[in-house]
Amino acid sequence: MSEYIRGGLQKSSYASHEVMQWPCPLCEKSETKFIDRERESLEICKCKSCNLIRVSPRVKEPEKVYWGDASHYVNESRLIFEGKKKHHRDSTYAHDLNLLKKIKPEGKFLDVGCNMGFFLKKAVEYGYEGYGVDPSESLSNIAREKNGLNVETAFLENSSFQNNFFDIVTMTDVFEHIVNPKQILSRVKEILKPDGVVLIKVPNARFNLLKWFVIRKLFKKSSYDIFDSYEHVVHYTDETLSKVLKQCGFQVLKIYVAPPIQLPNWHKFVGHYYQYETPWYMDFRKKLGRNLCYGLSKIEKAVFGRCGYFAPNIGVIAKSL
Ligand SMILES: [Zn+2]
Repeated sequence: MSEYIRGGLQKSSYASHEVMQWPCPLCEKSETKFIDRERESLEICKCKSCNLIRVSPRVKEPEKVYWGDASHYVNESRLIFEGKKKHHRDSTYAHDLNLLKKIKPEGKFLDVGCNMGFFLKKAVEYGYEGYGVDPSESLSNIAREKNGLNVETAFLENSSFQNNFFDIVTMTDVFEHIVNPKQILSRVKEILKPDGVVLIKVPNARFNLLKWFVIRKLFKKSSYDIFDSYEHVVHYTDETLSKVLKQCGFQVLKIYVAPPIQLPNWHKFVGHYYQYETPWYMDFRKKLGRNLCYGLSKIEKAVFGRCGYFAPNIGVIAKSL
């Protein structure tokens, strides 16, 4: 097997000149409570004023981790492009699209941070008129050329979309990467039609805190990456996600526990997902554990009405006020 070079450009440690302090993007205050440190200088902390968890110091331009070489990304997803393997996120994509179908069965659909376009491609299969935007030159090129999608290479705030244009705007596993969430939501509000909706799906901060407690406190493992802090700069709970949406003039229609992403283990051993098949026994235990947490979290949501510590991901659908 030839040596694999992964598409992502993350580093195992960051020096002080590569990181920066920043105030809370929700309340603009600076006082924090320290939680943990990853990759030498990235600190996960909680805002003392509004409880939002963020990474500060954070990587200066976290989006650039996705600005790797296109051929590496294509190699990484070789089996998918050859039609030999489904994407491990396919079932979560279907889950979110089925929810959207009930609220907005058709219309103009924008996926922000669309990466190679696998979610957007599925949205088009569901009958939506698909548009995408992503600042990564290499990923947006793949979305256009390999997946045949209508994708603009840009940050949303610099994109060319007209106001009052979209029926649906989605950000799935994107909003936690964004350093200016209020500015992005204001732009989303402008490009949505008055009755349009936004769907945001993020990892659940409470679930990460549970993992942190078990792995770091109980099992004392220091090297394990829990918060993906080189790229996930904000960690939302259902409460803080609702708060930022309300502050930006949205009404939350639905907040839900989103299913786990069944990330194949293979990449941990060889650095990639789909260039070769993962031996089945490697993924089996993790899949079981994730499904168990997901099941528990749905019970927790039904009983206590919140996305608790077992919920792997949170989804929210909101409309403009
Ligand atoms: Zn705050």
